[in-house]
Formats: sequence, C-alpha cells, structure tokens
Amino acid sequence: MAMELAEKIVVVTGGSRGIGHEIVLRALQESAEVYYLSRSEAADHMELKNRGKVTWIKTDMGDEDSISDAFKTILAEAGRVDVLVNNAGITRDGLIMRMKTSDFEDVLKVNLTGAFIACRSISRAMAKARGGAIINISSVVGLTGNGGQTNYAASKAGLIGFSKSLARELSSRSVRVNVIAPGFIKTDMTDVLSDELKENLAQTIPLSRIGEAREVAETVVFLASDRASYITGQVLAVDGGMTM
Ligand code: NAP
Repeated sequence: MAMELAEKIVVVTGGSRGIGHEIVLRALQESAEVYYLSRSEAADHMELKNRGKVTWIKTDMGDEDSISDAFKTILAEAGRVDVLVNNAGITRDGLIMRMKTSDFEDVLKVNLTGAFIACRSISRAMAKARGGAIINISSVVGLTGNGGQTNYAASKAGLIGFSKSLARELSSRSVRVNVIAPGFIKTDMTDVLSDELKENLAQTIPLSRIGEAREVAETVVFLASDRASYITGQVLAVDGGMTM
C-alpha cells in the first residue's frame, strides 16, 4: 500500500505525550519525516527513532522566541514544512470567580498564540511551495463551551476562527487549513478526572465510550493526505457523536 505521507515533512507541536505522540507514531507509519516540538522528549524517543526519521526540538509553545527558533531550525534543515499539526495544549480549569488572570492568559498563550506563531513561521514557505496542510487541534469545548473552562474554551473557539481566516488567506496558494475538535479522549489531560466522572461522561456520549488518541491521529493523517485535497476551512469533530 502506498504510504500517505511519504517524503512529507511533518511538524507536530506537543508530540511527547497523548494525542500528539499518537500523531507522531501514525505519521512515521506513513513514512513522513517528523519533527515534534515539546518541553520534554517522548519517553520512548529511541523507540520512535527505530520507526523512522524523527527529531525532537525542545520548545516551549508559550514562548515566542522558542517557537521561532524551532521553526528556523526545521526550515534550515528540511527546507520546507508540508504538514503542521498544532496540537500542544494545556488546561487551567476553574470557575471564573476564582480564575487568576495568569490562568486565562497562560492557556491563551500556549493554545492560541502558540499556534498563531507556528502558522506564521511556516506560512511564507508553504505559500511559496504552493501547497501544504495545517491541522489545528481544537476541542468540542470550543464549539459548545464548558463551565469551569472559560479560558480553555476561549482558546479553542479562537483557534476555529483563526483557522477559518487562515484557510481563506492561504487558499489561493493551495494551502489547506482544517480543525479537528476532539471530544473526550483518553490521555494524561483527562486521566486527572475521577473514574466515576469518566464513567458518567462516557454514558453521555452517543457511542458510549471515551475516544482513543489513535482515533484523532487517524483523522490527522486523513486531513494531511491528498485524500483530503478538496477540504479546507472545516471543523471535524472526532467525538463519538457528542456534538451531533
Ligand atoms: P496531554 O496528554 O496533556 O499532552 C499535551 C501535549 O502538549 C504534551 O506533548 C505536552 O508536552 C505538550 N505541551 C503542553 N504545554 C506545552 C508547551 N508550553 N510547550 C510545548 N508543548 C507543550 O494532552 P492531550 O490530551 O494529548 O491533548 C492534545 C491536544 O488535544 C490539546 O490541544 C488538547 O487541548 C486537545 N484536546 C484533548 C482532548 C482530550 O480529551 N484529551 C479533548 C479535546 C481536545 P510537554 O509537556 O513535553 O511540553
């Protein structure tokens, strides 16, 4: 079978754990050359290296210089970026009455500003190459809102408006920009919830279960591939039917 991402340079922010790590694995499976940007190296980095060409660049997605430096390194080394997946994300949950300004700003900085700086860093190169795919990982919370997550929802809803605008801006250069809105996916981010809460949440999902990171990664590969060549500016919910 032909490899979907053969010879593609794929950059994943936050690829050390969770959904991002699964995206790195799937991209390697599809023969991509992968760079992942996170503060820590994946625990199984050596194992990843046995699966293909993969490079970790220590990056803080909340720091403009750190992000710019990472992309300068990638563009100098690889010469281009074919696929950018903005996946790094954090939560600082709390009711608004008790939410510190720093909790609001930190979430916006990593989840939204970080994605903006990453997109800006490769926009010229992608436009010049007249092709490329950007996939931004939002959340169903960006579509529906969620009490206790005003900061997170603002960042994820912001990412949707940002992506649709960027899709319009870059469409004449054949650069596609799409959003994935995962529902409730099993990772470190959701492991902090009690088993009881997770069980109750699963019962509210039409497919009656929590999603797997690989199910989001599968969608990323599709949107990054030529199979999605006529899809841009869309939000695809991978949520077991939560937002239908
Ligand atoms: P996770 O398990 O907590 O992993 C988060 C990833 O982001 C890690 O690789 C982490 O790497 C990286 N990251 C966090 N802060 C960073 C920073 N300042 N600089 C660089 N990298 C940073 O989360 P996840 O569940 O996989 O979530 C991935 C994305 O999906 C996020 O955008 C999240 O909002 C979204 N999402 C998740 C769910 C879910 O149910 N899990 C649902 C909807 C949307 P380091 O710690 O090594 O830096």
